[in-house]
Amino acid sequence: SRREGFSSIPNVKWGDVGGLDLLRREFDRYVVRRIKYPNEYEEYGVDLETGFLLYGPPGCGKTLIAKAVANEAGANFIHIKGPELLNKYVGESELAVRTIFSRARTCSPCILFFDEVDALTTKRGREGGWVVERLLNQLLIELDGADQRKGVYIIGATNRPEVMDQAVLRPGRFGKLMYVPLPNQDERGLILKALSRNKPLDADVDLIAIARSEACEDLSGADLSALMNEAAMAAVEEKFRKIEEASNEGTLSESYIGGMPHTIKAV
Ligand code: ATP
Repeated sequence: SRREGFSSIPNVKWGDVGGLDLLRREFDRYVVRRIKYPNEYEEYGVDLETGFLLYGPPGCGKTLIAKAVANEAGANFIHIKGPELLNKYVGESELAVRTIFSRARTCSPCILFFDEVDALTTKRGREGGWVVERLLNQLLIELDGADQRKGVYIIGATNRPEVMDQAVLRPGRFGKLMYVPLPNQDERGLILKALSRNKPLDADVDLIAIARSEACEDLSGADLSALMNEAAMAAVEEKFRKIEEASNEGTLSESYIGGMPHTIKAV
């Protein structure tokens, strides 16, 4: 994956995200259109939140949405992993935070994404001690400077919002909280559909039925992605097997075009 802090426009499209329509609409209103039509918002004096916190169980699309928002807006994306920032720059973490925000301003329009942001914003006096405290103070200073960073939007992600210092959740900081839930059965169907978008799926594979099956209960998007990958791999192997069989029999006249039916059905 990319070097940390490197900025580029991600290639995740909204079509790659299954479900989460409400969040998409919110991000369209609060980020995408503001990046695309900054003058209109300025003309009308619209002053909206620029910091968002996505929270919810792991593997349900927080990182994916953030990337899709950047893609849709044509904005750069900077991916910061909370724990890495904390560990890599012990003693220099304030400077690191300043540098990150400065880089974000330079490559605006930009989405600055803080993954596992709870690591940076643990309630003061807990776990990390003074390192976290100094880092947190610097982060608050930067977050409060929203006026100076046109076109920069901050998205944080966490599985543990409850351990976060309330100070960062105020308006103007990570002011807008958005819950990213475990998918329900319909949403699982949409996720499977999104995940199979660029795969040669057999026409008789019923993703909706699979999503409804008991085996898929409680699966996250990440689990479904792993499942889809297993199925794709099994289909590739089946294809090789058939080609081998055909060549052993000397009947390799037309190449076998495999879908990915069996394993996916066997879920
Ligand atoms: P974590 O809290 O562990 O960082 P996350 O919520 O950020 O998790 P993602 O990294 O966005 O989760 O998801 C992991 C992978 O799972 C994605 O790359 C994608 O393949 C799949 N996935 C998760 N949610 C969805 C979804 N809603 N639609 C399509 N794929 C999804």
